[in-house]
Amino acid sequence: MLFDTHTHIYLPEFDDDREAVVQRAVEAGVSRMMLPNVDVMTIDALQAVLEAYPHLCIGAMGLHPTSVDDDYSSSLDIIEARLDSSPYHAVGEIGIDLYWDKTFLKEQIDAFEMQVRWAAERNMPIIIHCREAFAPIVDVLRRLSYLTPRGVFHSFGGDADDLAVIADLGDFYIGVNGIVTFKNSSLRDMAMTIPLDRLVIETDAPYLAPVPHRGRRNEPAYVRHTAEFMALCRDMSVAELEQTTYDNACRLFGL
Ligand SMILES: [Zn+2]
Repeated sequence: MLFDTHTHIYLPEFDDDREAVVQRAVEAGVSRMMLPNVDVMTIDALQAVLEAYPHLCIGAMGLHPTSVDDDYSSSLDIIEARLDSSPYHAVGEIGIDLYWDKTFLKEQIDAFEMQVRWAAERNMPIIIHCREAFAPIVDVLRRLSYLTPRGVFHSFGGDADDLAVIADLGDFYIGVNGIVTFKNSSLRDMAMTIPLDRLVIETDAPYLAPVPHRGRRNEPAYVRHTAEFMALCRDMSVAELEQTTYDNACRLFGL
C-alpha cells in the first residue's frame, strides 16, 4: 500500500487520460493520494477529482506561494470560504518561494502566516512548499509556535541541519519525492537520515518524475520508484518502507 502525499492530478496535464492515470496508480499499489490546491483558478477542478474518487483522494485547500500577488487578500477570502465548504484534510499548499520571484516576499509571508492560523483554528495540518525560503518559513512557524502548527515539509530540499531545526519546531513530517532518485542527488544522504516515523513519500505530479521516467510527466504510480529507491538506500524491505510511510501519512492527515 502506497500513499502519494502530494499530487496534482486535477491539473490540465491530466485532462486527456486522468482515468487511466488513476487506474495505473491503483495497479501500482497506491491506495491514497493527497491533492493540494494551487490557487483560486484550480479549486473547481480539484473538487471535481475529489468527488470522482472519494475512496482514493483527499484534498487540501490553500493558496500556493507562487500565486501570491497584488490580489492575494481577495484570493485568500475565496479560499477560506471554500476550505469550510468541503471536508478538506489539510491547509495547502502554502509557504514561501523565493526561487522564482522575490517581488512579493512581504505578501508571501503574510499569506503564509494567515493560512497557518486557519489551520490552527481548525486543528488541521499544513502542507508547506518551501523553496529557497527555509529561514523565513521557520521564522513564521516560530512566531506562531503558541498555535502549535503541525504538518509536512513537502518536496523537502534541505540538509541535516534543517532537519534538526524542523524536529525542534514540533509535529512535522518530511516529504521526499523523485528528486532523491536523480543521479548525484545531494538529497540522498539527507533522505537516509530522516527519522523513519517522520518520513512520507510523494510524486508532486505532474512535476519531478523519478528515474526511470525523469523528464517526462510524473504520475502517482511512479511513487513506487521513490519507495523502492528509498528502501534500497535505507537497507529495509520495500514492504516495510511502504507500511511505515503509509501509516505516517495517515497520522499526518488524521485518517
Ligand atoms: Zn505541489
